[in-house]
Parts: sequence; structure tokens; C-alpha cells
Amino acid sequence: MQLLLALLALAAAGHWASSADLHWCYDIQKIHDSSCLAPEQWEWNCQKKRQSPIDIKTSEAKVNSDLSPFSFSGYDKKGKWSVTNNGHTVMVQLDGQAWIEDGGLDSKYQATQLHLHWSQEPGKGSEHSLDGTFKAMEMHIVHQKKRGTSRSRRALQDTQEDNIAVLAFLVEAGPQNDNFQPLVNALSAISKPKSNTTMAEEVSLFDLLPEKEKLKNYFRYLGSLTTPSCDETVVWTVFQEPIRLHSQQIFAFSEKLFYDDQKKVNMTNNFRPLQLLEGRVVYKSRAPEQLLPLALTTLLAPALTYLTVGSL
Ligand SMILES: [Zn+2]
Repeated sequence: MQLLLALLALAAAGHWASSADLHWCYDIQKIHDSSCLAPEQWEWNCQKKRQSPIDIKTSEAKVNSDLSPFSFSGYDKKGKWSVTNNGHTVMVQLDGQAWIEDGGLDSKYQATQLHLHWSQEPGKGSEHSLDGTFKAMEMHIVHQKKRGTSRSRRALQDTQEDNIAVLAFLVEAGPQNDNFQPLVNALSAISKPKSNTTMAEEVSLFDLLPEKEKLKNYFRYLGSLTTPSCDETVVWTVFQEPIRLHSQQIFAFSEKLFYDDQKKVNMTNNFRPLQLLEGRVVYKSRAPEQLLPLALTTLLAPALTYLTVGSL
């Protein structure tokens, strides 16, 4: 009985979750460690029905006029960020000075960290896909909801279902991207898990993103963390415009980082397979094809001016 009570106390303290957390893995690691839990075996919340990532069928996404452009603050602040190989990905620890609001979000959210998912094989690496097409990588900027900034008193607050806001950017091959080089350069220093370093050069979040004008087009749905414990607490934003890195910069992640201390297993294919939509609705901000009314307004403006002047 005492043992049972002790076990219950441990479980309540979250010790079970944390010890189990060390043991989950991606499929590619299973070859070297047959005892680890691959995505199909993930437990915790991972078998529930509001999971991520998903395939986004762009023509089926519903236009939602609430999905206004984001307001970014602190995204222009440069820093020599701390970078960690946490055994699953490379994680950049942010200093809590960057925030997002608007963009259809109910409150203000604080950026806490960013990390990536990738592959070295063509046509895979991202977690989300757009119309069945995967990109080489996906970058996630993770934000935590700021308590007390909620605009409504919806039930959302009680269920915590939007406690985390992740901005997701697909990454594809393109020209050399010098803004990403401070992060790419840091990889050599953190090849083994649980190692960390500091970037040698300063970089801001805006430096890493596509140009701001293109951040107006995005998809929105409610989902989960894509790693155990797969908590269903995430409001997802997947941007239409990809980040572009040179193929050598993309390859550096798979080449320099390892899952294991012995440096036998290159860190690659660290993405969760697609999850079912399970009846959820994916929304989109003003879609590109909807630019037509705007173009018409521009064309009509001189005519309207003429009419106005004419009537004076
Ligand atoms: Zn992620």
C-alpha cells in the first residue's frame, strides 16, 4: 500500500511523464534503439482527436475576416541567442522580449523559443503539408499566452485550448540566406544532445522570417504540440510564404547534429507524421485570389475621385 501511495505521489508530481518523455523518439531512431517509442506508439495525449501536424487543403480552408495581420513587437530586437541540441531538435531560447497579438488571436502571446524539424531527403522534412506537398524544413516559433490580456471571456480560457500559439514557417531550398547563417554556424558546437552554445553573431526574429508584407497570408486551426505529451493546447498559424535557405544550409542540420552521444545517428527526419483532421475546420486569412476586390478598388478610386470632384 505504501509503495502504491509512493507511486501515486510520483505520478502526481509528474515524474512519470518526465521519465517517459526521455524515451520517445522518431522512426529513424528506432533502428538504433528498439526500445524507444516511435510516433505510432506515443501515449499521453497523442492518440486524441485534435492532433498536429495536418495536411492543409488550401481550397477547403474557410476565409475568416477575423484573421487580420499580426502585430509583432520585439521581433526586430537582435540578440546572440542561446542554442541547444535537446536530443530531438535544435532549440533557440528567446529572452521573452518578443510578443505577438492580433492575427485573430484572443490575447497577447510571448515568444519563448523556436526550433525546427527537417530531413535531408527531397520532398520531406516539414511537419505540415500544403495540399499534400511537404517542404524541406519547418520552423516553429512557440509563444505562451499572456494571462490577463484576453479580450473575451470565452470558455477557451478555462480549457486552455489556446494556451500556446505557434507560428509555423515552411522552409524550402533557394539562394544563400545570410540571415540564417549565425544559427547554421552554431550547429557544429552542439552536435551532441544536451549541449548548448551561443550564436557568435546577433540575429532578430524578423531576420529569420519572410518579408513582413507576405506574412498576411496564413492558415489557422486548433491542434496540439507535435511532440509528447501532444497537449491539445495550441492555436496554429501556418504561413503560406516559405522561408528560403540554400540547400547546403538545410543539409547542415542533418549533417552537424546527432541524436546520440556517440554521434552514430544523425539528427534528421525529426518530424511527426500527419494526423487526421477529425472534423476540424481550417481557416485562412484573406486569400491571394481575394486580392481582386482590392485591385478593383484601386482601379475605381480615380473614377470615384472624378465623380466626387464633379459633384462639387
Ligand atoms: Zn515543432
